[in-house]
Amino acid sequence: MTSVTRVGKHRLAPALVAALMVTGAGAAAADGKLRIITFGAHPDDCELVAGGVATKWAALGHKFKCVSVTNGDIGHAVIAGGPLALRRRAESQRAARILGIETEVLDNHDGELMVTLENRRKIARLIRDWQADVVISHRPNDYHPDHRYTGVLVMDAAYMVQVPFFTPEVPPLARNPVFLFSEDGFQKPNPFSGDIVVGIDDVVDKKLAVVEAMESQFYEGGCCDVPAAGMPPDAAGKEARRKQVHDFFASHFAATANRFRSRLAEWYGAERAAGIKYAEAFEVCEYGRQPTKEEIRQLFPFLPAR
Ligand SMILES: [Zn+2]
Repeated sequence: MTSVTRVGKHRLAPALVAALMVTGAGAAAADGKLRIITFGAHPDDCELVAGGVATKWAALGHKFKCVSVTNGDIGHAVIAGGPLALRRRAESQRAARILGIETEVLDNHDGELMVTLENRRKIARLIRDWQADVVISHRPNDYHPDHRYTGVLVMDAAYMVQVPFFTPEVPPLARNPVFLFSEDGFQKPNPFSGDIVVGIDDVVDKKLAVVEAMESQFYEGGCCDVPAAGMPPDAAGKEARRKQVHDFFASHFAATANRFRSRLAEWYGAERAAGIKYAEAFEVCEYGRQPTKEEIRQLFPFLPAR
């Protein structure tokens, strides 16, 4: 019986293990900086679920990239197509400047994303190119087909990013990244577990500024009784709509802290956790590297040392 090495739930043949070791690519960056890549289905998903941690990582010099897997070209009540895709991309770029991160919008049509081999290759190449230590995406039981399929595509890439002759034009990662799911409220077949919960009170203003920068999504569509004719034309109407959207998202970000208050206490201690108003939460995917609690503190260096 030949010996094998476990990688996640899979086993690699010795020759493949040797090939992975020879490449040496994908080891933790020589500059000591972490590299995080987050895949959202639409231009706004990544920013909404991880904008707080993104800007915290960036402030410490770590590298964070948002990828929108579709171009968002139908995410509006009254406009669609190329002009909307261009607006959504410009808004993502504004958000990236606010957060101090990189961003990329893939040119797949909104509402039409499919789990194809070509898309699996695209996702795997992006993870390899970024030399990712951490990969974040949707869970595959989300309500929206683009969210679900983005989650499946990232899960399908989780093992392949290490296999040398899958997309061989981009060097494979020598170390499997930690794969995380972003928060959702879906209960079946299992609720989101909130393994890692980060307080974002110190950066919530930036996250709310991102909401404001994504006008086509949040002011003209997206939430809270969308005005049929877009933004109100008058200053008072605009201001009322801004306040409505601001308050909606502030309470949305606060709901995460309330939902995972006991988990916050595990990371911050009960006293400090009690004072945290806004948070972001992540679940560790069973695929990819399985981090210890100590490694999670290294990967999320803004969590307090215990
Ligand atoms: Zn979305």
